[in-house]
Amino acid sequence: MLKRFLNFITFIDLPIRKKFTLFSLGVLFWFIVMFIISITVNSNISNKTGNIVNRIIPHDRVAQKITRKLQGLSIDATEIMNISGIKDLNQKIDVSRARISDIKSFVSALTLGGQIHDINRNTGQVIESFSVTPLDETPEVQKYSKDLLPLIDSLEVKLKELADLKATTLNNKIQDDGRVAIKVGEFKLLLSEAGSLSQDYSVKIAKLYTVKSKNIRDVSNFIFYVLAGVLLISTALLIVFTLSISKAIAKPVESITGQIRALGEGEVDLSKKIDIHSKDEIGILSEDFNLLMDEIHELSTFKKVIEEDDNLEDVYSRLGKTFSDRIGLDEFIIYEVSNSQNKMKPVYPIILDDNDIFCNEEILNNCDLCKVKKTGHIISSIEYPDICKQLRPGLEKEHVCVPMIVGGRIGGVVQFLFGKKNYNIDRKDKRMFKAEQYIKESLSVIEAKRLTNTLRESALKDSLTGLYNRRFLQEYTETLVAGVLRRKKNVGLMMCDLDFFKQVNDLYGHNVGDNVLKETSEIIRKCVRSSDLVIRFGGEEFLVLMLDINGGETINVAEKIRDALEKTKIKVSDGIIKKTISLGVSEFPIDTESFWQAIKFADVALYKAKETGRNKVVKFTEDMWTEKEF
Ligand code: GH3
Ligand code: MG
Ligand code: MG
Repeated sequence: MLKRFLNFITFIDLPIRKKFTLFSLGVLFWFIVMFIISITVNSNISNKTGNIVNRIIPHDRVAQKITRKLQGLSIDATEIMNISGIKDLNQKIDVSRARISDIKSFVSALTLGGQIHDINRNTGQVIESFSVTPLDETPEVQKYSKDLLPLIDSLEVKLKELADLKATTLNNKIQDDGRVAIKVGEFKLLLSEAGSLSQDYSVKIAKLYTVKSKNIRDVSNFIFYVLAGVLLISTALLIVFTLSISKAIAKPVESITGQIRALGEGEVDLSKKIDIHSKDEIGILSEDFNLLMDEIHELSTFKKVIEEDDNLEDVYSRLGKTFSDRIGLDEFIIYEVSNSQNKMKPVYPIILDDNDIFCNEEILNNCDLCKVKKTGHIISSIEYPDICKQLRPGLEKEHVCVPMIVGGRIGGVVQFLFGKKNYNIDRKDKRMFKAEQYIKESLSVIEAKRLTNTLRESALKDSLTGLYNRRFLQEYTETLVAGVLRRKKNVGLMMCDLDFFKQVNDLYGHNVGDNVLKETSEIIRKCVRSSDLVIRFGGEEFLVLMLDINGGETINVAEKIRDALEKTKIKVSDGIIKKTISLGVSEFPIDTESFWQAIKFADVALYKAKETGRNKVVKFTEDMWTEKEF
């Protein structure tokens, strides 16, 4: 769950470019968030500060000014008491009146708002002027003005009484009887009442100031924490993003380079997979790399397996099965090319009839007709329609024929066929690419196995006649005999020996003798089935093994051979010669249960044939054996 969340916030599965674009947008987003918070905070704080500066502080100042005016009035009162001239008195009274009217206008500015013009009433100088706005949220100011204004009115009345009293005493030049002093006292009492009201008000304003400025501090503290939190979150996201990205990018890249290095040093475990952390380009790269490794792994395993195969047929069939089972190419024929005989034959799948191939069957006996064999190139009807003229007419298929180059020569051809719609013509079919890889991988093994086959054949065959030699007989007797016994059949044995062959050598020379031997072996081969074995047993002696025959049939075939040779005219430089042959016949396991003894019996019968006139077939009989006393 957490992993999925992390993958989501780090855009792990998006392509790298998108990932980083989103990341930059994310950073921008957090910057914008912080910017907006700062702007809001700034305007909020400056609003609040402005509130204090423009509204609360003027009220405080006005309250102080009222207090100072009241103090001025108190001094005025003392001076009035001691004044001795009527003119001075009038002047002072005017000053005091002006002060009272100032106080009134100040109080009205406090409640209703307005301009404050503070004038020094002794000198008439303007001290300062500023504007005041009402503090609606505080009821204090209303109370203050409500309490203060009646006092000021009373002060005005008291001032008038004081002025009148003082004028009377001055005009009448009467001794002050203390009444003025009492008036002044009353006046000052009112002043001190008004003073304490103003001080109270001052204190309240100061309190308001403290509350408001504490508010600002709280707000700015709060904002500081919010900003710090935002910064912390964005930094944490940044760290998580960077870590997971670097992990998702660096790890697979490290693994891939590690694998490549190991591949270079030949110490790679091909089955080892690279972990895939994301679905971005790196993830795709890792996946592709794994696929590549899989393919190399499959190829190398394939090669190992075919190397261990016993014979070429197994290799061809394994290659064929790989085409169909692993690659999904179902229609194909693998041909083996024999350069010495200029022939090609289908080796996989097993094809019994020449009509089952897709080409003109003449190519089988003259493989130069095959374009691939001739050119050594891939011949594809997909790239070049109608490129090959040897394809059966009316075949509704595309073909791609691939050469198998073995030892610098064409050792085989693989013909792949596709239904017209099956092949993706736009791009090269990946399956063909794979098939070619497997063909390439098998070539060296095929070459080695073909070479071994040739070597084996030459060791088991007689070079003059192309027949099997005695060594073949020794090596294969056991398997041969076991098979015949298992099938409950017989082997017909014929030991054949040319009559007076020595004369040929003596009269015509060894070369002619060799020719006669070749001719004779050809005649024998033609008289028996292709599954029968003709062996050059000695100089001019041939052993024929006829497999799976019924008892008594051998003698007929032997007679056929004798007859055929008798009728054959062998050409030599001086004309023609005719030769005859003697044959001894035995049957295994009818005559004996030992195969080697059956050979011996055939030889004994041959001896009998020679003895009794030559150019004849003699079947072994038991009496021949006892007669000889072996
Ligand atoms: P017979 O009717 O009794 O069999 O008489 P023959 O002359 O055929 O028998 P013999 O065994 O006396 O002679 C066989 C001759 O075959 C001897 C040898 O020179 C000859 N020979 C054996 N191998 C070869 C060969 O590879 N080439 C040639 N040209 N002659 C061979
Ligand atoms: Mg002989
Ligand atoms: Mg002979």
